[in-house]
Amino acid sequence: VRELRESLRRSGGELIVLHDQARDAIPALAQRLEVDAVFCNGDYEPDATARDAAVEAALLTRGRRLHRAKDQALFEKDEVLTRAGRPFTVFTPYRNAWLKLMEPFYVEAYAVAKHARALAPPPFPVEVPSLEALGFARTNLASFPVGTGMKGAARLLADFARRIDGYAVARDFPAVRGVSYLGVHNRFGTVSIRKLARLALGREGEGARVWLSELAWRDFYFQVLWHHPRAARESFHAEFARITWPNDERLFAAWQQGATGYPLVDAGMRQLAQTGYMHNRLRMVTASFLCKDLLVDWRWGERHFAAHLNDFDLAANNGGWQWSASTGCDAQPYFRIFNPVAQSLKFDPAGRFIRRYVPELANVPGRFVHQPWTLAPLEQHAAGCVIGRDYPAPIVDHARQREKALALYGRARND
Ligand code: FAD
Repeated sequence: VRELRESLRRSGGELIVLHDQARDAIPALAQRLEVDAVFCNGDYEPDATARDAAVEAALLTRGRRLHRAKDQALFEKDEVLTRAGRPFTVFTPYRNAWLKLMEPFYVEAYAVAKHARALAPPPFPVEVPSLEALGFARTNLASFPVGTGMKGAARLLADFARRIDGYAVARDFPAVRGVSYLGVHNRFGTVSIRKLARLALGREGEGARVWLSELAWRDFYFQVLWHHPRAARESFHAEFARITWPNDERLFAAWQQGATGYPLVDAGMRQLAQTGYMHNRLRMVTASFLCKDLLVDWRWGERHFAAHLNDFDLAANNGGWQWSASTGCDAQPYFRIFNPVAQSLKFDPAGRFIRRYVPELANVPGRFVHQPWTLAPLEQHAAGCVIGRDYPAPIVDHARQREKALALYGRARND
């Protein structure tokens, strides 16, 4: 925020930060500044669109207009539709239509410089409230390669630009620096989404192709929520709204604490608690594990992620959870259930990520790190990790839970 203020000041303007209800504060400010119109960036979440509609109505009572601009997304709302003019509910055809529309015009920087000349400071003194005044408390999150503000985003982007060609493969391995870590910047607008797309548009190779595809996922979920606001509260597919989740609170607590006894799941949950970030592969693994192994309602997990992710975004989080729980728009089929040990062997083969976040397992040898309960008792002692004492035994049996999940989903479908 301070960086933004400095940048506006350099152009002769100023940043006014208010901490208040938008529907009261924006019209009051417009009145105080005696402006004819208010410009804002559009949003796609149900609460945010309701907020903006209230601001618009309040402004209109004094003859002022609210103008919304597209800034968060590359394509929004009705810009990408099926040939029949309907919103897409399946990703691949959406992405294909998105790619067909995509051309350099859409990723050019907005021509703001000519308008910046018209900026003016307000006729009264302003101050940015402190974080404490806004109700924030200090956290003990470990430092993580996010970097703050526009400068932090620029550094991350420059670093990622050097690695983009390897993205298609490296992005799946949490122990390596394969992804961009730009999620939090996309969330808060400290990097331009058009700039991210420019990096890949017209570039050869699988890395650039997959990168564009991820940016398309982001737009896809925005438009899902925009067209189907009820998905924020309930299963996109009505049949799965009928699932009666057992919701065992003890299992849920073990999942939250990273104490399920499944090392990759625990490592992911601890990464989230310690850093406010979780690698995408692990978001999929831990979400699947909560719904299909622990048989807990996906909305419980969605809320936990919302409270802990620095890059929390309602559309992407809801979309990701409904994808993992197989209840959503173009979700993975409910009978495809991630095996947490197989995922671990495939995506953290040397157990480097696991050992970083689950230090109890640091000396567990070789492939036993993926399922330490299979290590003989003597060897557990030798590795300083006795199962049940130093690290939990698996809280559920994956094979058995898989059958239970299939039955649960199957019943909901046939009811
Ligand atoms: P990169 O791989 O570098 O991706 C680049 C950018 O593409 C991301 O910053 C993000 O803006 C976008 N992106 C990538 N994958 C997705 C996706 N599947 N859906 C939407 N956008 C995507 N993403 C969030 O931004 N906020 C969330 O709250 C969120 N919750 C999720 C919950 C679950 C259960 C799952 C499975 C996924 C969730 N995602 C969420 C999507 C994805 O995991 C994150 O965007 C990604 O891990 C952010 O890290 P990154 O910037 O290093 O990713």
